[in-house]
Amino acid sequence: MSPMRFISTRNASPVAGFSEALKRGLAPDGGLYVPERWPALDVNALMMLGTPHSMSEARSADASKHNGESAHPLASDARQLGSEPLTLPPIAAEFLAPLVVGDVLAEPMPAIVNDAFNFPTTLVPLSADGRLQLLELFHGPTAAFKDFGARFLAAALARLRKPGERPLKILVATSGDTGGAVAAAFHQRPGIEVAVLFPKGLVSPTQERQLTCWGGNVQSFAVRGTFDDCQRLVKDAFLDPSLREQFELSSANSINLGRLLPQAVYYAAASLAVWRRYGERASFVVPSGNLGNVSACIWARRLGLPIGNIILAHNANRTVTDYLDTGQWRPRPSIATLASAMDVGNPSNMERLQSLFPDVGQLRGALSADTVDDEAIRQRIKAGYESFGQIWCPHTATAAEVYERLSAERRRSSHWVLVATAHPAKFREIVEPLLGREIPMPQTLSDLLTRPTSCTEIEPSLASLRAALN
Ligand SMILES: *Cc1c(COP(=O)(O)O)cnc(C)c1O
Repeated sequence: MSPMRFISTRNASPVAGFSEALKRGLAPDGGLYVPERWPALDVNALMMLGTPHSMSEARSADASKHNGESAHPLASDARQLGSEPLTLPPIAAEFLAPLVVGDVLAEPMPAIVNDAFNFPTTLVPLSADGRLQLLELFHGPTAAFKDFGARFLAAALARLRKPGERPLKILVATSGDTGGAVAAAFHQRPGIEVAVLFPKGLVSPTQERQLTCWGGNVQSFAVRGTFDDCQRLVKDAFLDPSLREQFELSSANSINLGRLLPQAVYYAAASLAVWRRYGERASFVVPSGNLGNVSACIWARRLGLPIGNIILAHNANRTVTDYLDTGQWRPRPSIATLASAMDVGNPSNMERLQSLFPDVGQLRGALSADTVDDEAIRQRIKAGYESFGQIWCPHTATAAEVYERLSAERRRSSHWVLVATAHPAKFREIVEPLLGREIPMPQTLSDLLTRPTSCTEIEPSLASLRAALN
């Protein structure tokens, strides 16, 4: 097979191999890397992998811990229905092989996916007939799905380091979740250093701890400014000759191909599990902001996985739903909502979707979208607890609300999977008062919260960042 290459969505960059695309992050012309061609996957071979777990009590230890069995009687309903742990590494290795063929990372790929996907992923039925399920993506170290991409990128970049090379410096600007996942994933990786920039006083207390509790090869900078200032500083640093001379700079933000592709793996695994058990395609409702997670789902379907409908669940940031309604692409400043990790007014992965579906009519054929306001998110968090015994974070509740709004006929027409993107304990300030109860912390999160923290405050200027990095 000829080597797999990736092209820029803006078509003005040279093609890149997989590892080059990972190291670059953004293509030189400012575009995003997408596959040059779509290899045909052997879906039958994939079907033979993974766990043929039947309706059993196979729920992972971690998952039952966070539900707090005694504190939460209703959760037993879901357990009785038989949750299915998905075994990602074998599926990941087979699924990614044709996408990395010819690259230096092809051979270590099985080891990379073992290293990256070392925490549970669970499919939880919400109805006895299996027509409604929840895909829990929050059992990783920082309790949100961003752990999948961050851990994969870290495991891959670590294997591209050569002895004696100067360290790779990863700069990441964060409004909350991404920085924690990236810091956790790269912590203690030899030959790689991480600098996390966050807006001082503008992240939640739990998030701030997750950004500042690492030490070692992770530096944390509280920038006296906004998230936009942090992002601008990172961009300026990449263009700064003296920093470029001093460090080998790289980025780990969500447009990196090395964060997107591993996310396609859990859609592959979940859709195969549904296909194996029910002989039907899985349809997904995906809480969406920057559109990375939903692009991964689209790619999995494009590669031949048995995926039916894909619906985007947005909060009150309506850029994408307005585009589908009107055909006008109008990015705008984001507005703050309860589902804050989706507060995006100019989703960067739109470029990837448009490269597959240049015309709005084609995009309408590929997916649909709905938006949910804060009041509806609150009501859905309460309803999810009352009807399913489920505790949902605001993002997951957004997906559940979008599903509930579908016509009864549409709901019956497929096997629906709601994507659960974060553990509710990460958003306890919002969820606990609504439910009138405490949410048990997963062990991984509570461990982080006991670590000592340290960070350096800097001005929102390149000079200040430059001095702090030295
Ligand atoms: C980042 C994030 C999202 C949005 O995902 P995108 O890939 O940006 O669309 C949704 N939920 C949670 C909890 C997140 O952290």
